[in-house]
Parts: sequence; C-alpha cells; structure tokens
Amino acid sequence: MNNDNGASWERVCTKFKKEFGQQAYTTWLNQLGYNGLDGGTIELTAPTKFVRDWIQRNYGPRLMDFFHAEDSRVKSLSIRLAAKGAVPASPSQPIARAPGANSAADTLTAGVTETAALDPKYTFDSFVVGKSNELAYAAAKRIADSDDVSFNPLFLHGGVGLGKTHLMHAIAWEVQRRAPEKRVAYVSAEKFMFEFIAAIRYKDTHAFKQKFRTADLLMVDDVQFIANKNSTQEEFFHTFNALIDKRCQVVITADRSPTDLEGIEDRIISRLGWGLVADIHPTDYELRLGILQSKAEHFGEVEVPSEVLEFLAKRIISNVRELEGALNRVLAYATLVGRPITMEMTRDVLQDLIRANDRKVTIDEIQRTVAEYYNLRLAEMLSQRRARVIARPRQVAMHLSKQLTSRSLPEIGRRFGGRDHTTVMHAVRKIDDLCKSDSQLDEDITRLTRMLAG
Ligand code: ADP
Ligand code: MG
Repeated sequence: MNNDNGASWERVCTKFKKEFGQQAYTTWLNQLGYNGLDGGTIELTAPTKFVRDWIQRNYGPRLMDFFHAEDSRVKSLSIRLAAKGAVPASPSQPIARAPGANSAADTLTAGVTETAALDPKYTFDSFVVGKSNELAYAAAKRIADSDDVSFNPLFLHGGVGLGKTHLMHAIAWEVQRRAPEKRVAYVSAEKFMFEFIAAIRYKDTHAFKQKFRTADLLMVDDVQFIANKNSTQEEFFHTFNALIDKRCQVVITADRSPTDLEGIEDRIISRLGWGLVADIHPTDYELRLGILQSKAEHFGEVEVPSEVLEFLAKRIISNVRELEGALNRVLAYATLVGRPITMEMTRDVLQDLIRANDRKVTIDEIQRTVAEYYNLRLAEMLSQRRARVIARPRQVAMHLSKQLTSRSLPEIGRRFGGRDHTTVMHAVRKIDDLCKSDSQLDEDITRLTRMLAG
C-alpha cells in the first residue's frame, strides 16, 4: 500500500471543508479513517454503515475528484466499515482535525450522537437578549440551569435565522458544563429521519431507539421537516412520549407554532403544545444594534464606527443571520484592503443586500399603513365586520399583501383574523377588477404601494 503519511488526505479534507463547510466536515468526513492508496483505489474506513452510505451517496463523487486531483493514479474509492472499537485516527492516517475542535463536542454526549455538530460559538454568553426573544431565552436558560423539569416539552418557534438553533446549542453546552454525566442528544429533525430510515433498512432499529430514548435531554431542531413523513412522525412521537413519560426534558424547535404545523398529526401537535410554547419574534432595531455591537466588539481587529452599525441595524431587517453576514462582509473587506471602515465602503460592499432588504415589506406594515390611510383602527380592519367602509380597506390590505410580500394566500388569510385563503383570493381579484373602473381606488393603491415599497 502506498502511504503518503496522510498529507494528501489532509489536503482533501481542506478542500472538503472549503466546499461543504466546517459542519459537514465535522459531522461526516471527520469520522473517516484514511488508509492510503492501494492499486488505484483509495481505502477509507467508516465507523458505521450509516456514515459510510451517507458519505458515499452525498459526497462520493466530489471526494473522488479531490483525490484524483492529488494523484491521477486514483481510479476509485472504497469505504470499508472499521472494526468495532477502532478509533478513526490510526497512526498511518493523521486525520486533519479542525483547529481547536472538538474534543469537548466529542465527549459531550458519551454515546449519544449529533453533538459533533454543536457550534462552539453558540452559547448563552454570545446570545443577545431583547424583547423579541426574552421568553425563549429565559426558558432555555431555565432548562440549562436546573434539573427539575418545569415544562415539557419546551417548544421554540420563530422565523429563519432568529436564534433557535443558537439557543439549543447553548443549552447543550451549558448542561454539559454543569452536569457532564448527563446524556444530551441534539439532532435536526432531518437527521432524525435519515437515521431512522437507515435503521429500518439495516434492521437496526433497536440501536436507534436505544440512542434517543436513553437521553436525559433530547433536542430536535426544525421539526417542521417531518411534516408529511408518516413513519418518521410515528417514531418521533414514540420517542417523544417515552422521554416525557420518564420526565426527561425535551426541547423542540420549528419555524412556526404547533398549531400552524401542517401535515403533522393532531395528537402530536397537541402534545407538542403541552409544555411551554415560546415564540421568537422578528428582531427590533434595538436588538439588531445590540447584536451588531456585541459581534463587532468580539471581532476586535478593526473599529466599526457606530454610524455604520446603526445603518446596518436600520437597513438589514430580514433576520440575524443576514445581519451577521452583512457585518462579516464589511469586516472581511476592511481587513483585506487594510482600510478603516466607512459609510461609503459599507454601502458599496453591501449594495445587493441593502437593495434586497429594501424591497421587503411585512404584512404588519401593510395593515398599519392601510388602516391609517383610511382612518381606521387596526383592530377594526382585522375584525369580522362586513360594513363596506371597513371591508374595502381590508381587501386593499390583502391585495397589497399578496403583491408586496412573498406570503402565500393561506398565510395572508391567517394574518387577517384567521380568514380562509379563498377570501384572500376573492379580495385580490375584486380589487384588481374595481381598479379598472374606480380611478380613486386605483390611485389609492398606487399611493399605498409607493408609501410601502418606496
Ligand atoms: P435559526 O435556527 O432560528 O434559523 P440560528 O440559531 O441559526 O437561527 O441563528 C442564525 C445566526 O444568527 C446565528 O449565527 C446566531 O448566532 C445568530 N443569532 C440569532 N439570534 C441571535 C441573538 N439574539 N444574539 C446573537 N446572535 C444571534
Ligand atoms: Mg436553525
């Protein structure tokens, strides 16, 4: 066997990280052992069938490309199962570990998986609390700090990029620090499903059940993912019940509230709502500014003028992930070109993002603006009253919601006092029709659109 001491393997790992990210690397590739090249075939070992199949299916062709670029003699890849008890890094193959990662994560859950995927940056310390997330934060903190189960499950929900995953990881880190003997399982619903399917395929459901049902704390991220996946739901429900009955803490997140989850059985939904349901709202200006200040301080290398932070907080309103991304881009640019950060540079570097955020109008804004425009109280406009003076503006607001946001008809209906999507569709058509003959209304729509979308 040709042995290059793993230098080419390290380079392949680096390329992999670049292309698929640190998390994919830590979760998947880092579990492989490298045994070198044998007659045109790269020999790798995987700890489980699941890992092997996953890597082959999802990353096989790219890995092949990477190896081939290292050595054109490489014709194929073979991933064998490692003998039981084998550690991934044997002497012949120094696996490139992520810098500083992740011995804490590896030991975090002795036996329970998924924690390799925990992000060291996602802690309570780095989480900035504001009005929109204080309940979710307090609940997460309570679970992390105490052994009593006071609400079970904790159900966190909110839009994309608002800190749900961050809070879950923070709980895991804190529990591990405070009570290292506890078995913490953190898993995305997607991964839960793939493991479950693999367990069925390999007739290994016992191990699967064992793994999740022996946890002291189970956290399942993004459960909306298992909507309409019936057998996964069933298994999830059993796991969930088993743990709750044992009084083990369960934490769930989703992008919407339990009652808004579609394609998930009623009995599951009702049980999901038994504990505490905490909603993370979109950020407000103060919180966005707070988050930016905290991140800028942490970065330390370059000074970020406060007018730049204020500008970002005002303009990037979609979610925290995008906000962070914007700041990072400005920081990276300034570091690269070695110039101090200015407003001009910020506008320049973020042109596309600022434009995209400009176009986003929320249903809330539309409702408020339309109510004000027609001199109605918001509650009146959203009420069930059918008087023309109220119904017409309501239809205008629905129409604008359809035109100016990417919300679906059912979503819009919900936001207008729980109306049916057909009502919204009717409103949209009605206003379209009326505009053709009613020039006053047509003008109203044009003016409102300009007020809202700029
Ligand atoms: P979600 O899981 O809700 O989609 P994440 O937890 O992945 O969102 O958060 C997206 C990004 O925003 C992460 O980098 C996270 O650290 C950051 N973030 C979100 N909320 C906060 C907050 N309140 N304080 C600090 N960082 C936050
Ligand atoms: Mg998430």
